[in-house]
Amino acid sequence: MGTPNTTPTEIKRNGTAGLSINWLDGAQTRISSETLRRECPCAGCKEKRGDTSHSKPLTGKKLSLTIVESSLEQELQLQEIWGVGQYALGMRWGDGHESGIYPFSLLREIGSANA
Ligand SMILES: [Zn+2]
Repeated sequence: MGTPNTTPTEIKRNGTAGLSINWLDGAQTRISSETLRRECPCAGCKEKRGDTSHSKPLTGKKLSLTIVESSLEQELQLQEIWGVGQYALGMRWGDGHESGIYPFSLLREIGSANA
């Protein structure tokens, strides 16, 4: 289904620093690479975070950042994004990770949390 406010009209990459997204309702959000990677919705990353519930709503409180193994610098390097159907973005990171599919609703959620 989808609601108007999770429909992006423009998605801009800020180099490797993150994304700016304009939404259909006129809002604009920015999401840093760090946040994007931390919120990676793939099964592997969810498991790493110990986040086993599927639709736990985000609260205003920030969880502490978990530092994962290997080069953090590489992990936070957003290398490429691409559209997945009409509803999501795929992303590839500097360490080769690319299994996270980010639905626009998730991007809107984590974007506004960091506005
Ligand atoms: Zn992941």
